[in-house]
Amino acid sequence: MQILDGKALAQKIEAKVSIGAKELKARTGRVPGLAVILVGHDPASQAYVGMKKKACDRAGFYSVTHEMPDDISQEAIVKTIEMMNLNPNIDGILIQLPLPSHIDTTKILEIVAPTKDVDGFHPYNVGRLTTGLDGFVPCTPLGVMELLAEYNIDVKGKNCCVVGASNIVGKPMAALLLNANATVEICHIFTDDLKKHTLAADVILVGAGVINLIKEEMVKEDAIVIDIGINRAPDGRLVGDVDYDAVAPKTSYITPVPGGVGPMTIAMLLSNTLKAAQIHAQEEK
Ligand code: NAD
Repeated sequence: MQILDGKALAQKIEAKVSIGAKELKARTGRVPGLAVILVGHDPASQAYVGMKKKACDRAGFYSVTHEMPDDISQEAIVKTIEMMNLNPNIDGILIQLPLPSHIDTTKILEIVAPTKDVDGFHPYNVGRLTTGLDGFVPCTPLGVMELLAEYNIDVKGKNCCVVGASNIVGKPMAALLLNANATVEICHIFTDDLKKHTLAADVILVGAGVINLIKEEMVKEDAIVIDIGINRAPDGRLVGDVDYDAVAPKTSYITPVPGGVGPMTIAMLLSNTLKAAQIHAQEEK
């Protein structure tokens, strides 16, 4: 069993992104800029935004966080995004999810300019991903693909079982695997007999948000297990969706939580923001 070390790879990618940012600045004067919109006081969202800001500082990016109260109106969020769309110092716009229930999240995500959509949630970029065209790809599944590539794991022809079908994790994960010529199954809360599907898989990629969802008897010998889940256990520890201690010895490769997919997500955000800055610099010429 080998551990897929997302922390180490994320550091490597961050170092490369910093060099890319320095080169871009030297060549064009442009500093990559990220705007984050944070609505409300959810401690997890605040922690994620704090980590993203620190990562921008490390990479030499400009970043700004627009903090808004829980009861902010849809119109006020839209106005802020429209301003960021026009702001030449901003290359990437990130809306920290979830938004409060009175806000129409789909409409908000559609306002973001597709060339600043560094989270890859705009339908334009979703369409480009499913048709296999270049665009912005959601950071978490993109990070998983980078991690697999780092360890020379080719999913071509492999049976991949994605557990979780959200727009930000499961669906783009499945699209990326399909684009890489894997045979892909997507399971979700209404899937009958989850074990039947996971047991047949060469690669299990789980992002459901359920502690210990994937148990030892649901995994075949030498499977590759990618744990995308991040949950707070009753004792306060961060854990994934996989019963790690029981499952790990059976696998050929596995990601730990923490230190697996999580750090890759932030590294990919930096990488996508640099990519956006490079596109904008090219357009300015
Ligand atoms: P979500 O709630 O939007 O979606 C969860 C998905 O899992 C749904 O499709 C649901 O049908 C499925 N699901 C739920 N319970 C299930 C069950 N018992 N059996 C099978 N499928 C089930 O959540 P999300 O935003 O996609 O996040 C999922 C997990 O990934 C969470 O733990 C979240 O914290 C984590 N996450 C991690 C990162 C990262 O950087 N590693 C990024 C985003 C989300």
